[in-house]
Amino acid sequence: MLHYLTLAELTARLGRREVSARQAMQACLDRMSKVEPRIHAFISADAPDALAQADAADRALAAGVTHAQQPLLGVPIAVKDVIAVRGQPLNCGSKILGRFVSPYDATVVERLKAAGAVVFGRLNMDEFAMGSSTENSAFGPTRNPWDLSRIPGGSSGGSAAAVAAGECFAALGSDTGGSIRQPAAFCGCVGLKPTYGRVSRYGLVAYASSLDQIGPMARTVADAATVLGVISGHDSRDSTSAPEPAPDYAAALDGGIRGLKLGLPKEYLVGGLDPRVKSALESAVRQLEALGAEVVEISLPHTEYAIASYYIIATAEASANLARFDGVRYGARVEGPDPIQLYCRTRGAGFGSEVKRRIILGAYVLSSGYYDAYYLRAQKVRTLIRRDFLNAFQQVDAIVTPPAPTPAFRVGEKADDPMQMYLSDIFTISCNLAGICGLSVPCGFAAAEPAGAGQAGAQLPLGLQILGRPFGEAAILRAAHAYQQSTAWHKQTPPC
Ligand code: GLN
Repeated sequence: MLHYLTLAELTARLGRREVSARQAMQACLDRMSKVEPRIHAFISADAPDALAQADAADRALAAGVTHAQQPLLGVPIAVKDVIAVRGQPLNCGSKILGRFVSPYDATVVERLKAAGAVVFGRLNMDEFAMGSSTENSAFGPTRNPWDLSRIPGGSSGGSAAAVAAGECFAALGSDTGGSIRQPAAFCGCVGLKPTYGRVSRYGLVAYASSLDQIGPMARTVADAATVLGVISGHDSRDSTSAPEPAPDYAAALDGGIRGLKLGLPKEYLVGGLDPRVKSALESAVRQLEALGAEVVEISLPHTEYAIASYYIIATAEASANLARFDGVRYGARVEGPDPIQLYCRTRGAGFGSEVKRRIILGAYVLSSGYYDAYYLRAQKVRTLIRRDFLNAFQQVDAIVTPPAPTPAFRVGEKADDPMQMYLSDIFTISCNLAGICGLSVPCGFAAAEPAGAGQAGAQLPLGLQILGRPFGEAAILRAAHAYQQSTAWHKQTPPC
């Protein structure tokens, strides 16, 4: 099945001219025709444009261009609807952008194209990346390919579902508090959130600017490393992008993990952890030990304050960032008798309820009299959380945890209870607050409980989260690759 080749297998076959880029793109489009009515991972896709790009890649291959020169030549890669692709719609899962079309490419997209990728499609997401289930999309929810009664995770749920269902060979997501790692875990693929500053955000619509990062989602660790290698590195158009040159991540994968010291934070193994998640983590830890890693218990003492500080800092930044969507310069507009009415009506009609909740909360925590009590205090807690990690990295090379306390939950299960939804982010948000890197790699399956509307006998993917030092992507990729090479979880495909 062409659509389930890994990215590495596809480039090998493209290089040997056993398959054309057009065939690879057509395989994704065929797969989309089959599964999209049920999964809805894409908001839209421009098939003629995708096939034209694929034909251009075939011409380059025929002219002798190699994958050593252009590592993604002819590879169909889809993009979350929060990243600008020139000439394509940009909606951020919201109604407020109306018929907006991106006038330029995000730096990550420019780099994918320069590496020969066929960049196509707008992947579904929670509106403005606010959510953990993709239910907050103005375009309707995405379903989990492993169990259609469940969410794919979020906010990059469309990216994870599309990769898992074989609708693209890799995807880009964005991660502000877990939005790459958690959906990757729930859909059985690999997702990596780079260190803050590792990947340019030029052309990423901002949610919470001190936390946002773009990262790769793919079916294997090696494929994620290849995409990360293409998109990372300094960009003068993003002042927060780090000057350090990016290493060759794909070349750094091998070498194993003998002697690697891994920390297991005791604060992550407490009440509320689903027993299926706990036992998958324990098996993964045993496997890592069998591969030669040493696993020790560590402490991240400020873990319990992470959710509270994240939901203050992220909403505060969101309230400022989303002020630009006012119906004046771009996007949808609802006319009013005066400018204030125009703003109010446009924003009232254009934003969904979760985005409104966060703008209100964010404006409140920044308001005079409350700033010190909430925002400033949250920033201080953030410093303590970062310090916890830097202290831990004095003792260990990487940290292993579950990415989420449960497997994928049911559509609607938490939709009316924002607090329950926020609490489900407990294991991913500290990484963003600390600015470090992290990934999720498939580590098993949980049997869906038979009760309720779940598909009988459904298997729900589980992930292993590996957190690394700032700019330590190569180390966590190597650990995850060693683990993945010794397991077969990633070879299973969903029943959709
Ligand atoms: N679920 C978190 C939130 O709703 C994280 C989202 C994200 O990483 N974009 O804010």
